[in-house]
Amino acid sequence: MGIQVVWFKRDLRVHDHAPLREAAGQGRVLPLYLFEPELWRQPDTSQRQWRFIRECLQELDLEIGKLSGRRKGLVTRVGDAVEVLEQIHQQCGIDALWAHQETGNGWTFERDKRVRRWARRRGVPFHELPQDGVIRGLQGRDGWREAWSAFVSQPPLPAPGRVELVDAPCEQLPTSVGEDRCPYPQHGGRARGLELLYSFLHSRVSGYLRGMSSPARAVHACSRLSPHLAYGTLSLREVVHATRQRTEELQAQGDRSEPLVRALQAFESRLRWRSHFMQRLESLPSLEFEPMHPALANERTTLVPHLFEAWATGRTGYPFVDACMRMLRATGWINFRMRAMLTAFACYHLWQPWREVGLHLARLYVDYEPGIHWSQVQMQAGTTGISALRIYNVVKQSIELDPQGKFIQQWVPELRKVPAEWIHEPYRMPLSLQEEYGCRIGVDYPTPVVDHEAAARAARQRLFSAYRTPEARAISEELLLRHASRSPRAERSSPQSRRQLSLFAEGEGL
Ligand SMILES: Cc1cc2nc3c(=O)[nH]c(=O)nc-3n(C[C@H](O)[C@H](O)[C@H](O)COP(=O)(O)OP(=O)(O)OC[C@H]3O[C@@H](n4cnc5c(N)ncnc54)[C@H](O)[C@@H]3O)c2cc1C
Repeated sequence: MGIQVVWFKRDLRVHDHAPLREAAGQGRVLPLYLFEPELWRQPDTSQRQWRFIRECLQELDLEIGKLSGRRKGLVTRVGDAVEVLEQIHQQCGIDALWAHQETGNGWTFERDKRVRRWARRRGVPFHELPQDGVIRGLQGRDGWREAWSAFVSQPPLPAPGRVELVDAPCEQLPTSVGEDRCPYPQHGGRARGLELLYSFLHSRVSGYLRGMSSPARAVHACSRLSPHLAYGTLSLREVVHATRQRTEELQAQGDRSEPLVRALQAFESRLRWRSHFMQRLESLPSLEFEPMHPALANERTTLVPHLFEAWATGRTGYPFVDACMRMLRATGWINFRMRAMLTAFACYHLWQPWREVGLHLARLYVDYEPGIHWSQVQMQAGTTGISALRIYNVVKQSIELDPQGKFIQQWVPELRKVPAEWIHEPYRMPLSLQEEYGCRIGVDYPTPVVDHEAAARAARQRLFSAYRTPEARAISEELLLRHASRSPRAERSSPQSRRQLSLFAEGEGL
């Protein structure tokens, strides 16, 4: 008799894992994690992501072991997916291959097509089951919200009671996929994910709405679940259910819990946005490589090395921008507002190509999730044609979000002695003060690489003239109908009236 192969990808858990449950009910299981060297050579991958995954795999190995009465259970292999599957098929005979659907990058998209072709040729059924609230094969957005709600409302599945494992040799996984200095990364594993979920829902959520915009406060105020959702140590459905359960508990406590309930509702909206943006990449895989709207296709095509490098290393001469970039490099995480600002600064003020900007950021994020990432990069770079254009004033952001300059001083030690009065624009300090505070502009800390106000004006001008033409507007309208999120009212309305209805809070609609 053949075996059931469960291929773990971005779903490194045994709970709420439909493929594992289904396979365990059919017969002997080979739980497989494949390290694909070619994937880790792609320009959006990095060591910090791999390190997180390795930590998740160690725990997964033990969890599968427990389900089968062994110490460990995960089978690890190294190589090309089709070659490894063929080898296993030759040795054991695969009755069925099970996995979750993956909305990954272009490389995994092509790899999955190859695996599907191989499975068809070999007569092996390949079952890919949904997990992210993404609907495969969906053309427009009609009915998407209802489908999402129906999916996440189903109760999460328990881990299978018992899994009968196949004896199969493991291959050693590499410890490193490349150089990457990230001294304070988030750590992987389901236990850590569960701790974060619990501490967020029961305590940290109180600071969520007020703290999420500030890069210093967001570290504790936000859930920090993003890498756990990205690599699936927790499922979307588990997080939604835990959130709803906590919301009900708080609602039962009466009016004094109202602010917490509102915070949890805002959190759940973001979980829906996650699926919304993943759906966008699922429906439009070209999003990773081509601008969604062609209006700016011939602009920002040339990378200017000294500008790009200054941004990428946190040496633009704008302290708040530099502090954010340095924090991201050192920790692998930064909050939403600062991700948006870093992208916008590179693409608008420095007028750098959005794809190169997106790749650099993807490598820096431990939680890199292609669907959210490329949708957001295009939104913040102004290439969707359907999103509000946000050109951040980086000095105003600095004053608003870090009034005393403490965050800047933490990440930009060159400015440690510069007082709040000058820290947002140290280049305005007279020479005597530069000497006094031990920070000579152009020597100890860079002179601004551009004049941010003039650069923002120039970008605004170029954007508005590109999107103002009747042709560009017509394309935007089409894109709105196909890919924008809809309010519940818009879902129920006719296509014509949808054009007038307001779009969702992530600021879609020019
Ligand atoms: C340019 C840019 C690139 C981004 N790239 C990624 C990425 O690669 N991976 C990633 O997980 N998030 C990405 N985000 C979205 C967001 O910044 C992060 O999800 C969030 O900061 C993660 O921290 P958290 O888990 O504490 O968030 P919380 O605020 O606690 O949110 C909970 C979860 O909701 C989802 N979420 C939150 N905000 C958004 C959003 N705006 N859009 C879609 N889903 C959201 C995430 O899964 C997140 O874990 C990006 C945002 C921008 C502007």
